[in-house]
Amino acid sequence: MIITKKRDLEELKENIKNYNSFFLIGCSECATLCGTGGEPELQAMKETLEAEGKKVTGSFVAKTGCQVLGTKVELKPFKDALAGTDCILVMSCGAGTQTAVELFQDTAVYPTNDSLFLGNMTRMQMFDQRCSLCGKCVLDKTGGICPVTACPKGLLNGPCGGTNEGKCEVSPDMECAWVRIYNRMKRIDQLEEMKKIAEPKDWSAGNTPMNLNAREKKGGG
Ligand code: SF4
Ligand code: SF4
Repeated sequence: MIITKKRDLEELKENIKNYNSFFLIGCSECATLCGTGGEPELQAMKETLEAEGKKVTGSFVAKTGCQVLGTKVELKPFKDALAGTDCILVMSCGAGTQTAVELFQDTAVYPTNDSLFLGNMTRMQMFDQRCSLCGKCVLDKTGGICPVTACPKGLLNGPCGGTNEGKCEVSPDMECAWVRIYNRMKRIDQLEEMKKIAEPKDWSAGNTPMNLNAREKKGGG
């Protein structure tokens, strides 16, 4: 999931100071789980804006805010409310914000959140980054633990010389990613694999902007 956090409210107020009427769009997926774009957060934003003397013409939580066509269809019942607004606030990730930009090309659109990383929710409202979307996954060689993300140096052959009693030299309160990988490989009886030297990574696989037409290739090939 995409982990988001609320932007600084004063910064947002500065962004929208020239607008008077707003429509709010949240997202029922990641932003709802992050507590940044579900019904309670939209309601709180509505109250904040109204306290500032602004008008909220409507609000809606998209099923999946980064799904452009689906969101377009879901927004049809809000046509009148949207016509009466001069600014849309998107309470999801940056992708959701850009859905609104695509759908409302003549209306100002602002994000209320910062998009931080792709992560896992480990406990309620607790998130860990697990993948940096590098474009060429190495989890098949590292026991399913990502060194690109979990090692601050992104080492593909580790650990570095700074690991100390299983901890990372960069963040001593954190387990060394490569010690975790070693322990995992031991558990699944693949320590021999760790003797292989990983080739330098082709970072161009993660160059942006990326796109994918998944219709062209079905399956894993
Ligand atoms: S190797 Fe790359 S794609 Fe695989 S989990 Fe790590 S960052 Fe993500
Ligand atoms: S101690 Fe481990 S996790 Fe930290 S930088 Fe070195 S190899 Fe990476």
